[in-house]
Parts: sequence; structure tokens; C-alpha cells
Amino acid sequence: MTDLTSLTIAEARDKLKAKAFSATELTQAYVSAIEAANEQLNAYVMPTPDKALAMAARSDERLAKGEAGPLEGIPLGIKDLYATEGVHTQACSKILKGFEPRYESTVTANLWADGAVMLGKLNMDEFAMGSSNESSCYGPVKNPWRRKGSNVDLVPGGSSGGSAAAVAAHLAAGATATDTGGSIRQPAALTGTVGIKPTYGRCSRWGIVAFASSLDQAGPIGRDVRDAAIMLRSMASVDPKDTTSVDRPVPDYEAAVGRSVKGLRIGVPKEYRVDGMPAEIEALWQQGIAWLKDAGAEIVDVSLPHTKYALPAYYIVAPAEASSNLARYDGVRYGLRVPGKDLTEMYERTRAEGFGREVKRRIMIGTYVLSAGYYDAYYLQAQKVRTLIKRDFETVYADGIDALLTPATPSAAFGIADQDMASDPVKMYLNDIFTVTVNMAGLPGIAVPAGLTAEGLPLGLQLIGRPFDEETLFSLGSVIEEAAGRFEPAKWW
Ligand code: GLN
Repeated sequence: MTDLTSLTIAEARDKLKAKAFSATELTQAYVSAIEAANEQLNAYVMPTPDKALAMAARSDERLAKGEAGPLEGIPLGIKDLYATEGVHTQACSKILKGFEPRYESTVTANLWADGAVMLGKLNMDEFAMGSSNESSCYGPVKNPWRRKGSNVDLVPGGSSGGSAAAVAAHLAAGATATDTGGSIRQPAALTGTVGIKPTYGRCSRWGIVAFASSLDQAGPIGRDVRDAAIMLRSMASVDPKDTTSVDRPVPDYEAAVGRSVKGLRIGVPKEYRVDGMPAEIEALWQQGIAWLKDAGAEIVDVSLPHTKYALPAYYIVAPAEASSNLARYDGVRYGLRVPGKDLTEMYERTRAEGFGREVKRRIMIGTYVLSAGYYDAYYLQAQKVRTLIKRDFETVYADGIDALLTPATPSAAFGIADQDMASDPVKMYLNDIFTVTVNMAGLPGIAVPAGLTAEGLPLGLQLIGRPFDEETLFSLGSVIEEAAGRFEPAKWW
């Protein structure tokens, strides 16, 4: 029998229905794979094998009765940012140590209602702040990919590094992730997996630890485009508990996979050709253009003139919202408490000890840009820039562009503890240069693996869509996938 963990969600789903194996067997295969690999890769911070096997047993009962849900018996990993009832949820921060929510996030509740099985909680950057998964209080995740002939450990990207690594290394059939500035798409690109950030409002944010509420969105990371489509359909819903979730029917995204893209007009924004971009990425982009053209799409050069302001504006808006959202971690309501001689000292000590360096940096930036005297110059200005960025997209879409094609990241995976990145936080922030615009404008974006570097590391292309037109992204993404093939790391762990 082939290794069950090598099956995609779609393959496993069909074989479970055909009774080729049971949900318990499939789940056990993942539980064993996690046991064998996690010490090396550090993708899971809290595996939940007992829960997984109990859920799989219930799936087997439903499969036997012919009552299978769309994800019946499919083992998934859950980013530690999602509240899971009775299961430790820490956003990989010391300050949430010991926090066990008494409630389930809406997105994970949707997945369980559709029959999915929870394998455990996945590593991530602390409070989802980062692009390398190195700010986690549980330490870095190792990318399952290595450069050809090298044993240097690389980052899987971030903040959903555990999600991406688990999917790439076959430690989960699929995983939930979140994206505030690129945290689904960047790690997907760096691990040869597919990640989609849906339109703002498509998934409920309820029960997901808040980072920057006007930018945060849930989304899946899968092995291929079809798996991402299958997962998103189950994750998406309107929710009275999140007033920014949108009441629109959830389409059958899987039906869009493989649909013809003939006649679609694809914009190629010249502003995404940034200084110092490696020739390999430019070549990959040109290759992507050629593939879409071959599939019958029309390629149009477009301009999004405010792109260059997106990253600086994001690094004002996101920290501003974070500084407000993180005010609730005060040693009283959740997790860690470090006693002091009075209330103020208790707050100060708890926050000083509980938050890591990057999170503290964001809180300080956020507090500064919101403070009296600086608010107009920074926060208000950034909000105006945000409107201009959104308008750039509206203009090209009004001109009949159906989607945009860009690189997903400015480089392939880099080393753990990279000196360059560690010495200057702005260098780390530059990893998000192609992804933050999409969050600022609230649009959907998908990252699809498109090729390998000369050193053998995966690279991704990004497709950006019209609001709530994830279907077009799945159709275009499957054209790229079909042409590029799928990429799997050579197993060393
Ligand atoms: N890397 C970006 C940041 O650190 C985006 C993170 C995310 O999307 N959660 O803010």
C-alpha cells in the first residue's frame, strides 16, 4: 500500500468513500509521521493524537452509515492562532502560556462539522508577527526543503511556518493558516505548497487571536490547488459573531479548478519589478505569463502606482492595530501573570516577560504612531495611502482586468538565524513586499508553486483577484500548477 500520508485531500477523500482504508488508518499514519518527524522539524507545538484518533473513529462511523461530510476523516493541522476548545492555544507567545479556550473558533468549528480530524496545533511566529517563524516561543520551524547538496537548515517562511512545513513534509493533509500581510502566501511559496488568502470577510475571524483586525484573514495551505479549494469551501462562512464576515453564498471552489481561463484578462503590474530582484524570479514571472497566454488568457501591462507605499503604510497600520489588540494581555485575563508590588508593576512585569522582542517592537511602533501629535502624520496618513492602494486595484479591475499575476516573494527560503535579516528588522519586513498590498486592499490572493531555483528551492507566483472572486484564482492557479508540475522535498528528516 502506498504511504497514506502522500495522498492529497481529494485522493484521500475518494479512497475513504471507496473504503480503500479507514479514517482511523489514515489518521494513524499521520500520527506516526508526526511522532517520527516533529522533533526535527518542530512544525507542531502541540500534537493531539488522542483527540485525532477519537475524531477519526467517529468519522469511520459516519462513513459506514453513508453520512460523510465533505472533509470526512481528513486529518488537518491547526495554526496555534485558532482557539480550539479545551486544547492549548498560545499564538506561540509566552504570554498565553497555559491558555485553554472554552470555545472553538468559527473556522475550525466549520471544519469539524464537515468531518475533518484535528492532528494538533502548529508552530507560528509569535502573534503571527514575522516572516520566518523565528519569533515563536517554541523556536524555529525547519523548512523540509534544503538547498541541493546542502544540510543547512532553512526557514519555512512565516508567520504560518508550521502550517506550510507540516503540509510540505506530509505531517498533515492540509492546514489552517492566517494572513495579515502575507503569512499564508509567503510560507506557501517557500515550501512548494499552495496557500490562499481569501477576500477580507470571506472567513469569520471569530476565535482567531487578533493581530491587526482590519487585515487578518483565515485561509488554507494545501498540497495542491484543488486541496486549497476544498478546504476553503469548508472554512468560509458568514458568522453573526464577526460583523465583518460577509453574507454571500460560498461557491463550490473545487468546481473552478481546471475551468478554462480562455479570454480572461490578466494584468502584469510593472511596480512589482523591484530593484535587486533575483533574475530567477523575473524569469519565473515571465514563464508564468507564457503559461497563462498558452492557456488562452490575454496578458495586459498595468500600473498600480501606489505599490511602493504599501509596505511602509502596512508597517504603520498593522502595528497600530496590534498595539490596541494586545492591550488585553495584562496578566489578569489570560495566561501568564508575573506578580509585582502593585497592579501597575504586575502589568509591566507580565508584559515585559511575556512578549518577545518583535512583538514589543510592534507594540512600541503602534503606540507611537497612534499617540497625540503623531497620529495625523503617521496613522492617518497611512490610512489615506491605504485608500489609494485600494483605488489602484479598483481602477485596473474597472478597466476589465480579471486578475493580476506577480511573484509571491522576492527570494527563496533563507537560512535560520540569517545574519542579514537578524541585524535589521526592515530586511525581514521586505519579505512581504509583494503580499501586503493585497491585505491593504482586502482582496483575495493565492500563491502557487511555479518552479525551483538553481539550488533546488521552490518559488511561487501570486495571483490577485477581484473581491470575492476566489474561483478565478483557483482556475488560473490550476493552469500554473498543471504547467509547472508539483514539487515535493527530498526527505532528510
Ligand atoms: N510578515 C508580516 C508581519 O510580520 C505578515 C504577518 C502575517 O501575515 N500575519 O507583519
